[in-house]
This record gives sequence, C-alpha cells and structure tokens, in this order.
Amino acid sequence: GMRRFCSSAAVHEEPITPPVEVKYNQLLINGQFVDAASGKTFPTFDPRTGEAITTVAEADTEDVNRAVSAARNAFDEGPWPKMTAYERSCIMLRFAGLLEKHSDELAALETWDNGKPYEQAANEEIPLLIRLFRYYAGWADKIHGLTAPADTLHHVQTLHEPIGVAGQIIPWNFPLLMFAWKVGPALACGNTVVLKPAEQTPLSALYVSKLFHEVGLPPGVLNVIPGSGKAGADLASHMDVDKLAFTGSTETGKAVLGAAAKSNLKPVTLELGGKSPFIICEDADVDKAVELAHSAVFYNQGQCCCAGSRTFVHERVYDEFVEKSKARALKRVVGDPFKKGVEQGPQIDTEQFEKILKYIKSGAESGATLESGGEKLGSKGFYVQPTVFSNVQDNMLIAKDEIFGPVQSLLKFKDVEEVIRRANSSHYGLAAGVFTQNLDAANTISRAFRVGTVWVNCFNIFDAAIPFGGYKMSGHGREKGVYSLSNYLQVKAIVTPLKNPAWL
Ligand code: NAD
Repeated sequence: GMRRFCSSAAVHEEPITPPVEVKYNQLLINGQFVDAASGKTFPTFDPRTGEAITTVAEADTEDVNRAVSAARNAFDEGPWPKMTAYERSCIMLRFAGLLEKHSDELAALETWDNGKPYEQAANEEIPLLIRLFRYYAGWADKIHGLTAPADTLHHVQTLHEPIGVAGQIIPWNFPLLMFAWKVGPALACGNTVVLKPAEQTPLSALYVSKLFHEVGLPPGVLNVIPGSGKAGADLASHMDVDKLAFTGSTETGKAVLGAAAKSNLKPVTLELGGKSPFIICEDADVDKAVELAHSAVFYNQGQCCCAGSRTFVHERVYDEFVEKSKARALKRVVGDPFKKGVEQGPQIDTEQFEKILKYIKSGAESGATLESGGEKLGSKGFYVQPTVFSNVQDNMLIAKDEIFGPVQSLLKFKDVEEVIRRANSSHYGLAAGVFTQNLDAANTISRAFRVGTVWVNCFNIFDAAIPFGGYKMSGHGREKGVYSLSNYLQVKAIVTPLKNPAWL
C-alpha cells in the first residue's frame, strides 16, 4: 500500500523533539503579554502528530478593542510616527540583527507549528525574514514627497505621511514571511500595527515581536493578537483601524473587503489564492523542466498561493514529461520535517488534509490518470503522498480550484496561442511560469499572462525587492519592493503662495 509510492523517511517513527521551547503564548498588547479578557485559550497543533503544542490566549472583541486602542494611542500620542525616520530605521536594523542571533530557534518554532522542512525554514525563510526587515529599514529614511510644478503663483509640495493604525491579518503557510511582508513596510512608513496571526501558527509572530520590543520598539507600535477569524473580522470592521492588509483565501478576502466597506471605508490590500500555470515549451530540456515544475507545485507541501498547480506541457514532450514527473514524485522524500534531507512534511491541519484528499478523489473520478501518490501517508499527522495526475482537462475541479496541497496536474497543449488562452482562463491571476530556450516565446508568453508575477525559466523566486500581488480575483495591490510603501502612506498636498497673497 502506502509505502509503494514513496521512498519517504519513516513518518510513523516517534517524531523528533524540536530543539526549541514555547516562551510566549499570550496576547501582546501595548508592549505587555496579557491574557485574553475572557480568559479563553485555544490549542495550536503539531502537524506531525495532530497533538497540541501548547495553548494560546484567544483574542475576542474586547481584546481587539484593547489592541486597536493601544495602536491608536501609540500613533496619536507616541514617539513612533514623530521620531526621525533614521531612528525608526535603526530600531528595525537592530531587530534584524537580533533575529539573526535567534535564527535557529525561529526556524525550529516555525517548523514545529507549521510542519515545513526545518532546512527550508532555516536556509531560506529566516534569512529572507531578516533581509525583508533590513530592506524596509533601508526605505524608512528614503520616503519623501515631491514638489509639484503647479501654476506660477503657488509652491506645491507633497508630504508622504503614515496612514495610522494598520490592521494586518495573515495566513499559516509562511507565518514569519507574511509577518515581514506586512509589518516591515507598515513600520518603515511610521504606522502602528495590530497583527492577527493565523490560528494554526500563532507562535513565531509572538516570539519575534517580543524581540522587537527588546531593541527599543515603543509599546503599542506592534500589537499581536492570536485568535480565530472572528478576531480578524472585528479588526476588518473596526472604526479606528485606518488601513487593512489581508492574505488568505479569496472567500475570506471578500468578507474582509465587505467589512471595510461597511465600516469606515478603510483601504484594503488583498493577497488571495491562485491557480498558477507553468508552461513547458517544446524546446525545453525535459529533465530540467521536470525538476522545476516539480518544485513549483510541491514546495512547502503545495501550500503556496502561487504554486504552479497547472503544468501545461507541449504535446511533443508530454509523454516523456509525464514519466519523469511521476518518477520524481516517487523519489520525493516525505517525513518528519526536522529530519535532514526531508523535502516534504505534513500538511497544516486536518481540515486542509481532508480537503486535499477529497480533491485527489475528484481528480480520479473525473477521469484524470493517477500517476503517483493519491493517499495519506503514515498513521498519525497530516502527511499526503506527492500526487501526480496526467490527462488533466481544463474543466476538471483539480484544474480549476486551488487545492493547496502536493498535487500536480499535467495538461497537454499544441500551440502557444491556445495555451495562453487556457492559462488565462482562470478567475485567478497571481503568478505564472514559462520554460523555454526561445526568447520570442518567453517574451510573447510573459506579456500575455494576466498575472502579477511571471517567472521565466525559474519559479518561486522571492526577494524583498520583487513586488508580489494578483490580477483578477487574486487580490488588490502589491506587497514587497518599493510598491508596498504606497499601501501605508497618505499623500498630503500643501499649497503656499509664492508672493504676498492679494488679500494682504
Ligand atoms: P482563511 O482565509 O480563512 O484564513 C486566513 C486568515 O484570515 C487567518 O488569520 C484567519 O483567522 C483569518 N480569517 C478567517 N475568517 C476571517 C474573517 N471573516 N474576517 C477576517 N479574518 C478572517 O484561510 P484558511 O481557512 O486558513 O485556508 C483556506 C484556503 O485559503 C486554503 O485552502 C487556500 O486555498 C487559501 N489560502 C491562501 C493563502 C495565501 O497565501 N494566499 C494562505 C492560506 C490559505
């Protein structure tokens, strides 16, 4: 049965003890760790076993109000927006330095709460977390307005001011990176923040926010309130939150946008789902393309909003591509994410695990060919076999819906115009990839994609300076890079007469 398909590390062995302990499990409001007003807590689970790691204070309406009022007060009365941008930059740089010292614990905590491979957290995500804070620290003192060429009678200048209190709601797939994408630009611009981490992964945001206070972040500037979607909804509809940023499902994105519209019309940035196409042209080096397409979809257990979950392969190389993709999936090392060499850990929770298995069933039932995987793995935790389907048709659910799991769909195409049309026939428009040695094809396809990020002969390349965001139902606005700053700034025009005004 189950081990036939995978040369995986033995997931049924006793899980490795994480080399880290939980230090912080309360709400962080106004620089202090406090219990929820209701005294309520909720468990956060180890995806390797499904057992609770610890319980965490659960924010409800009263706590959201307390956190927003701390952030409001820190913005209106506190030193953060008033200090020089250079001083803010220095605090953010000191934070990045302290993150570096705590890298090992942070990677372990991230793996423990999320289930992602430790090597991925330690070698890729924590360094990028640090880079993001250094990058935005660098921007802090380079944000300024312009002088505008108006009529000859007036001097016109613009000030780029912080918006105020930013509410930020983040998901569980990259807890610390999502923290950095949101908090970095907000604080660089001089805003204050109330951040709600996902209920599946509240631990690392609390840990790093404590470190931030150790390097001089004033109380109230960054408040962290673990809790359910209810706390997120309270934040989205709060009259004293001036700006909202959300990453998660398209369905919840709609709810958040509606709540903002119905309350105080706060501007909203949304990073939502995707069903990203990856086009493999006929001239591709098949071995390289197979490897890249494999990592494009299986990275982070398939739990990426930009996962290359529709692999379009030219008919001339399709059969070879299917055989090699199947072989690669069978070799994928699945197991305890703390173990060296493991490529894939468990899915985040039982809900996602069940949802993925349902999609796999629907793929087989709708007539796609199951080439590998298709089942759960091990007797505990949320492990899913790396699954490859061939003969996938555009109208099948597995080709349309975001599965958010280790499931690859291989679709066949004949010519470039056809595949562009099919790639774009999705409500999503987050990312896409093309693999070819033909410069004309690369240029034509990149420009034709209706998506926010195109990777040419690469995939999943992230950097602090590369903007990220969606077309269509994948979201509003861009995060990272210089573009993210405008999400957190107001522009004020100040008009002054050049000469004595006529009424004097
Ligand atoms: P979700 O959108 O429900 O949760 C994301 C965040 O929103 C969490 O912090 C959650 O507590 C909060 N939230 C939930 N309901 C809310 C509401 N009404 N108002 C305000 N905040 C609310 O996502 P999920 O249930 O964790 O995952 C479901 C699906 O979403 C996944 O299968 C996947 O397709 C997608 N997803 C996308 C991303 C991404 O990076 N774009 C990340 C996680 C999940």
